[in-house]
Amino acid sequence: MIAELLMVEQRSGDDDLDGAHWILEGGRILPGVDDNRRMAELRSGLLRHTGVRSVEADADGEDVEQTLSVLHDPEYLEALGEVSEEPVVMPELTPPGLPPDIPVSSGLVSAAREGVRTAITAAERLAEGSRFTYALCRPPGHHAGPAWFAGYCYLNTAAAAVQALRDRGVSPVGILDIDLHYPNGTAAIVETMTDASLYSLHASPVTNVAELTVTPSSEREHVVEFEGSPDAAEYLEALAASIDALAGSSRAIVVSLGYDIVAGDPHGSWGFSPEIFTEIGGLLAASGLPVCVIQEGGYALDTLATCSHAFATGLLGAPA
Ligand SMILES: [Zn+2]
Repeated sequence: MIAELLMVEQRSGDDDLDGAHWILEGGRILPGVDDNRRMAELRSGLLRHTGVRSVEADADGEDVEQTLSVLHDPEYLEALGEVSEEPVVMPELTPPGLPPDIPVSSGLVSAAREGVRTAITAAERLAEGSRFTYALCRPPGHHAGPAWFAGYCYLNTAAAAVQALRDRGVSPVGILDIDLHYPNGTAAIVETMTDASLYSLHASPVTNVAELTVTPSSEREHVVEFEGSPDAAEYLEALAASIDALAGSSRAIVVSLGYDIVAGDPHGSWGFSPEIFTEIGGLLAASGLPVCVIQEGGYALDTLATCSHAFATGLLGAPA
C-alpha cells in the first residue's frame, strides 16, 4: 500500500481581517508576515505530491472548547473572547519577563480557534488509524502558553493535538518541535502532562523567552540548541537521535513543523535549503510511528511550496 498524507484544511474564521498586524523583534517593530498567503503556498506544495489528500477540519465546537479548557486558563480564554476588531496590546497576557511583542484582535482569535479545530481534526484522524496527518493551520501556536500570547501565537495548536490524542487513548505522546524558535508555550503547557515528552531543536540565543530562563521544565523536556546556522549533517544527526528517543517512548509523534529554518526566512537566521525537509520527512517515516504534523512558522513566501513539497516527498517517498 502506498503511504498517504491527510492534509487537514482550516476553515475560514468569522473575520477576513485575520492576518498578523505587527511584531516586535530585536527591539524593532516589523510588519506582520503571518497571513493566509502562507497557507496557499504550503497547500500548493503539498498537493503537488500525489500521496497527499485534502480533508476539511471538522472537529465540533464542543470538542474545541473542551480541549482549550485543558490547555489554557479560563480567564485567558475569556479575555481573548472579549477582544474587538481593533488590534490591541495586552501586557498582562505576555510571557513572564517579556514585553508584549504582538497585538491581538478578534480576527486573529477567530483564526486561532479554527487552527485548534484543524489540529484536533488531524489528531483525531491519526487516532482513527491514519499514519500521517498534517494540520495546515495558522496562526502558529507553540509560543502560546497557559495564559499568554506571543510570537504570532494565541492558542497552542500542538498542545491541542497532544490533548486530543490523549483523550482518544493514544498515550504516551511525543512532541518534536523543529521550528527555528524555542516552543516556550508548548513547554509550559505540557509540563503537567506526565505522559507527554517534548524534544526541541532550535536557535540559540533564544529570543522568545526572558534571558537565562531556558532550562528544561522537567525530565520529559529535551532541548538541542544551535549557536549560529548549523551544518546540515550535524543538525540531522541530532534530529535522528531525538526521533529515536521518541520512537522508543511514544505511541505517536506530534511534530511542530516550522519552515523558518531555511535560508531567506524573514524571521530566520539559518541557511538550510528546502531539501532539508526531504531528509526530515524521511527520518520521521523511518521511525515507524504515526505522525501528526502541526504547522508552526515559516514565512518566506517564495520557498514555502518547495519546502512543504520536499517534506511530503521525504515522508511518503517520491511519487511513482
Ligand atoms: Zn519560528
